[in-house]
Amino acid sequence: MIDGKASVGNCHIRRVTAPWLGAFGVAMVLACSLDSGNQSGSLQDWIPSGVQDPSGPASDEASTNDSALASIGDPAFGSVDDVPISLDASLGFSRDAKFSSLQYVLEDISMERHPSDGGGRAWIESVEDEAGAPLLPHAGGLARIRTTYEAGPLGISIGGALYFQVSSYWGWDPPQNLVSDAPGYTEVECAVDGVELDIEWWGTEVLAIGIGGRGLEAGEKIRLVYGAGRALARVDSFAERRARLWFAVDGDGDGARKLIANSPTVDIAAGDPARLIVMLPSSARPGDEIQVSLSVLDREGSTGVAFDGSVSLRVDRDGLEVPQHVEFRLDHLGRRRLPIRVNKPGVYRISAILYSPEYRLATLTTSNPLVVREGIPRLRWTDLHGHSQISDGTGTPADYFLYARDVAGLDVVSLTDHDHWGENFLDANPEMWEEIRTNVDRFNDPGHFVTLLGYEWTSWIHGHRHVIYFENKGQVLSMADPRYQTPAQLWSALKGQPALTFAHHSAGGPVSTNWTYRPDPAIEPVTEIVSVHGSSEAEDSPGRIYDPLPGNFVRDVLDAGMQFGFIGSSDSHDGHPGQAQLASSGGSGLAAIFSEELSRSAIREALLARRVYATNGARIWLEVELDGHPMGSSLAFEKNIVPEDSRDTTAGQRPEAQRLHIYVVAESPLERIDIVRSGHISSIRLQGELEWTEERTIPPLGPGEYYYVRVIQQDGGVAWSSPFYGAL
Ligand SMILES: [Zn+2]
Ligand SMILES: [Zn+2]
Repeated sequence: MIDGKASVGNCHIRRVTAPWLGAFGVAMVLACSLDSGNQSGSLQDWIPSGVQDPSGPASDEASTNDSALASIGDPAFGSVDDVPISLDASLGFSRDAKFSSLQYVLEDISMERHPSDGGGRAWIESVEDEAGAPLLPHAGGLARIRTTYEAGPLGISIGGALYFQVSSYWGWDPPQNLVSDAPGYTEVECAVDGVELDIEWWGTEVLAIGIGGRGLEAGEKIRLVYGAGRALARVDSFAERRARLWFAVDGDGDGARKLIANSPTVDIAAGDPARLIVMLPSSARPGDEIQVSLSVLDREGSTGVAFDGSVSLRVDRDGLEVPQHVEFRLDHLGRRRLPIRVNKPGVYRISAILYSPEYRLATLTTSNPLVVREGIPRLRWTDLHGHSQISDGTGTPADYFLYARDVAGLDVVSLTDHDHWGENFLDANPEMWEEIRTNVDRFNDPGHFVTLLGYEWTSWIHGHRHVIYFENKGQVLSMADPRYQTPAQLWSALKGQPALTFAHHSAGGPVSTNWTYRPDPAIEPVTEIVSVHGSSEAEDSPGRIYDPLPGNFVRDVLDAGMQFGFIGSSDSHDGHPGQAQLASSGGSGLAAIFSEELSRSAIREALLARRVYATNGARIWLEVELDGHPMGSSLAFEKNIVPEDSRDTTAGQRPEAQRLHIYVVAESPLERIDIVRSGHISSIRLQGELEWTEERTIPPLGPGEYYYVRVIQQDGGVAWSSPFYGAL
């Protein structure tokens, strides 16, 4: 972990790459650049010439951090020999395996910590505005935060250091000590006689405070003012309760540091009301009562805004009982859910108008479409992959579930924080896993809203997978544990449990999937083809993923004979599951699951049967049938196969032709529908229709063939059906 010594003044501080930064931050940095639209202004403008570039490496030795950032798209990601444990290479690794990232994780874990490391406590004295008045900071706003650190019983010896760090992801100004007029300026002061501080800003979110002169003894204090200058410091661009200001201590000066037990937190409130969204379920039957979610959000899509006013609603046709006006009081925090009655078949969209001179707001928005007919299959909008402040996201687990239910109007959600990634690690902190589990339990409400316990197995050498347990217990089987190092080891440890795994960003992005490990459809029936990282479907996919590896797309995997259903997930890090597109320039992911019952077991069954489709966040209604069979079906002919699951499989004579039925109701004007048959695409060009029905006959699917549909809106919204498969 020690990558060198940096000389500052006449004291030496050993530079240690923060395990929560950098080299393995490739994925996060990218995810974050997608998510955080409100970065603070460039410090560059503030730094006088002659001072090192704050956005670049702080020195020559600095850092694997920077070299990792520079290495995006560069295949040199360290070598297998650098990893301090022996790796099972029998089935190879991801073609873009990030060995250096695994190396950092493992070296950090094995690094010995002196008892004085991580000692002491810290607290916030005050959060202020520029004039020094108490302040509740708002998302993307400015603040001055006064903190105190007090040394623990073992103190910090000469050569040791205290580290102050803000989150690297969400637009916080780096705590710098170079220019007092610049944002993030941090004053550090120790009034104790004989102690000299050597303060060094790393050009990142870390400020290192070396202890010289004499050691800092038990009870002695260091005061830090973050945002001490007149430019103050910009805080999280998203609303977040308990945003942490991290303190770490290297007590003995050996370069190994440890977070103190409870770094202090500050609450970040939502910004001003700026946007309005209306969410409806996508399917209902006449006579149903459904929920409409109306949310007034801030510019970056955070909930919790202070809004007091009225929203007017209109439906485009008769048959939905919708109130004309909905009142918001301040204590609604910008969120309303209302039951409405559905009376007649048809396709409905609700328009909402918010006109408020007081908030300088005038906006008209339209809901996703609701399709009503007798016996329509029930569609459950689902997001099975996202992160909170427990790993490298923003926001608490409780707020994540609340947003999923009340703002995004999801039916099913899972929070999947990383096993070993971020500032503090899920695999080493059972209380963090317990916090997730408790909230999963609290929000689960079968029939209305289903929550699932999960985490992300963050392998940098075989690809990431999230693991979802369909009951309220399960363990974090960490990729950093040699027992769960390969996908095969993970699957075997999960055997016998109601758990499923999901490969994601499999064609590239932060790291691709090593498909040499062939998943068993009983544990990995579907694959996440799209998220904020982009689409892993195919080279020709709209919104293709960054850093793709030709030959590693999901379509290549189908060509190799594997069979999956398709889902999307947000992989949101911004605390906005189901709505990550609000702050990510449009890219996200959702799973559409057909399930009559809304319960954990029914959702698992639907995933196993591949009665699912993927979207990149757009709530497009998509029905595809082949000879009356739902998407995801495997169609067996000619052989006398007795299907195990008669809903999904047909056995019998091979027909002359098969009847394809496609019905689409889009959110916005349609551009085209692509029909993909074993790699060959035929397109139906459209002229901006909102609805489309296609009936055609096709030559029957032969053994090993696959067939799926992708629907593309003019605004870039896409839905992908799960494929039909010609059974072998
Ligand atoms: Zn991932
Ligand atoms: Zn993730």
